[in-house]
Amino acid sequence: MSTSPADDIPFPESPVMPNKLDGSHPIRFRCHRGVACWNACCSNIDISLTPVDIVRLKHRLDITSTEFLERYTVPYEMEKDGIAGVKLRPVDGGTACRFMVEEGCSVYEDRPTACRYYPVALLSMRHQQEYTDRDAYALVKEPHCLGHHEPHTQTIDEYRAGQGLPEYDEPARGWRQLILKKKSSGPTIGKPSKRSLQLFFLACYDIDRFREFVASDGFSQLFDLPAQELHDILLDDVALMQFGFRFLRQTLFGEMTIPLHADAAQARAARAHEKAMRLEREAAERAARDEGMVDEG
Ligand code: SF4
Ligand code: SF4
Repeated sequence: MSTSPADDIPFPESPVMPNKLDGSHPIRFRCHRGVACWNACCSNIDISLTPVDIVRLKHRLDITSTEFLERYTVPYEMEKDGIAGVKLRPVDGGTACRFMVEEGCSVYEDRPTACRYYPVALLSMRHQQEYTDRDAYALVKEPHCLGHHEPHTQTIDEYRAGQGLPEYDEPARGWRQLILKKKSSGPTIGKPSKRSLQLFFLACYDIDRFREFVASDGFSQLFDLPAQELHDILLDDVALMQFGFRFLRQTLFGEMTIPLHADAAQARAARAHEKAMRLEREAAERAARDEGMVDEG
């Protein structure tokens, strides 16, 4: 099983079929205990997790997000110099999923988004300079998966509904939009600092540590969030996750939707002014140097 929920357009040589499909497209597929390939897909995994997957699984296992990340995942880089992602960690020395048991998936009701989608892949795309994204799908056909030969046809929308995907996809939309915006922002935004990458990891994946950060004095000294809103966010993982996406839009892309305390805002403006002056000075120095080189030549 090798689907990523935020994949780009598939490469022609991958098992992902090259056609972009919409939700009304019919697919022939059925997976059930009686198929000869039962558990084959869970024996060789490459499963990227969404923030929603982590919240569901940590509740299922009754552990913190920090413990879940340590015990069940491996971090990876979604793109060069880019954004952190996490994948399910297979069994030690093997490729099988830790949650696979003979009967199938031991966390079936809370299985990750990519497991629900398979053999469909979600392709999220966005228009330049917009957060609005639109979904398209592709079909993944791997030779070991015999579900494609089963006599059962349904549309992709019906398949998604049957797999409980709308309740997974909607809360994760803000995360996908952040990734898409980062992917298409190019050099104008520049390479994110180590600090902003750490914040991305914290807010998107380690929700319990992000809660500690939001509840800290340092956060309240900087951000001017109404007490009731702060209280509500801290009590609910999904609300906290949504706030995390908003927080990251502010941190990574400068979209100021979380009010700052006046003195913090002043300090921020002073830092921005200082940075603009420094960049201007450096550009002037570079131009002077270039001019000198031309004269000398
Ligand atoms: S979480 Fe469940 S469905 Fe997904 S790979 Fe593991 S065993 Fe298979
Ligand atoms: S039919 Fe496909 S999805 Fe179902 S168990 Fe077999 S390999 Fe996995």
